[in-house]
Amino acid sequence: MALSIPNESSPRGPGAPPCPACNSEGGFVFHSLKGLPVHSVMNTTSFRQARDLPVGDIALSFCNQCGFVSNSTFDEKKVSYSTDNYEATQACSPTFRMFAERQARRLIDRHGLSGKRVLEIGCGNGEFLELICRLGDNEGIGFDPSYNKKNSPVKSDRKISFVKDYFTEKHTGHGADFVMCRMTLEHIHKTGRFVRMVRSTLGAKSDTTVFFQVPDATRILRDCAFEDVYFEHCSYFSPGSLARLFRRAGFGIIGLEGGYDGQYVMIEARPGVADDPSCGAPESDLISLRAYVRNFADRYRRKAASWHACLRRWRAAQRRVVLWGAGSKAVSFLTSLGIPPAFIPYAVDINPHRHGSYIAGTGQRVVGPQYMREYRPSTVIVMNEVYREEVETMLRDLGLRPQLVTMESGGAL
Ligand SMILES: [Zn+2]
Repeated sequence: MALSIPNESSPRGPGAPPCPACNSEGGFVFHSLKGLPVHSVMNTTSFRQARDLPVGDIALSFCNQCGFVSNSTFDEKKVSYSTDNYEATQACSPTFRMFAERQARRLIDRHGLSGKRVLEIGCGNGEFLELICRLGDNEGIGFDPSYNKKNSPVKSDRKISFVKDYFTEKHTGHGADFVMCRMTLEHIHKTGRFVRMVRSTLGAKSDTTVFFQVPDATRILRDCAFEDVYFEHCSYFSPGSLARLFRRAGFGIIGLEGGYDGQYVMIEARPGVADDPSCGAPESDLISLRAYVRNFADRYRRKAASWHACLRRWRAAQRRVVLWGAGSKAVSFLTSLGIPPAFIPYAVDINPHRHGSYIAGTGQRVVGPQYMREYRPSTVIVMNEVYREEVETMLRDLGLRPQLVTMESGGAL
């Protein structure tokens, strides 16, 4: 049973198609992987089904003009979110729920969201929309092709409605006072066209604020966080490239900041206004981004070798190693490093809708925390450092004190 990296020789130099954000030519590919699952969090019923899920290639290209990073080989026809097997909620974690509630209260206070009409693009099952409508007594409308009423916290509410579809031009004239889009833009390839479309749906209503939240590519590129690179995420933004994208689409930037331990970047913008000077100078990140992407592929290969060596040592010592977190980061970690179940047999997840499923591509079984009482792991790899304390507490409550390892270690253990 071997460990292997599913990559080809990293192509470098020009040749990337025009930038999907600013349409400039002259970008270059700096990291590529072959044959990764196109869906990370699709529930499966067997090892074979998980191993046989459709795959796609990743070729990350960097735009020299705007700093936007995208998968230049992305094929949107391969991805479908309109299935009941798609299970992406993070709302099972108390740490995440606390962050979401703080964020909802902050948005309500900052934008006077009380008795207003709030629209969410990519609302999932409506957890955050429900929160912002309940806390601010707002009316809500959510769009998501993967919306699943069965798993939604909104059972019957005449003030919140859902459209199980993509948000497009045909929804122009929605009349929303506040448009939000969290953890969705990174799944959209033609980002320039999409943000212009969002702007056009506002029509002449110039007092609507839009709020977008995406993973911060600065951290991914700076730390070579390869576990945050996967097929569904075809677009990667830094604060600078995000601000440039919105400005180009006719928005003024009124808020731009990081959050969730540097993992997210959040932008607030409004059509036809001047930038708020307190947002700093995001343009200045181009030079550092260029430096990060130049040696990303080399750092990835070193990290992969380090993790492989570590996993071989653990296996030789008969350590029982599990992952904590069976979401996209876990899928990317396991598939990018080609780790079969012989090295790591289980991925633990607190979302009960994921239990009994198998990790896309590599086939690890997804189990609940209770199973750890029986399995008694020696080492737990925590996929997201933000949840370390939460994981430690749950393990202690189960009477377990395994070695905890995070991605930050880079496998140098
Ligand atoms: Zn660009």
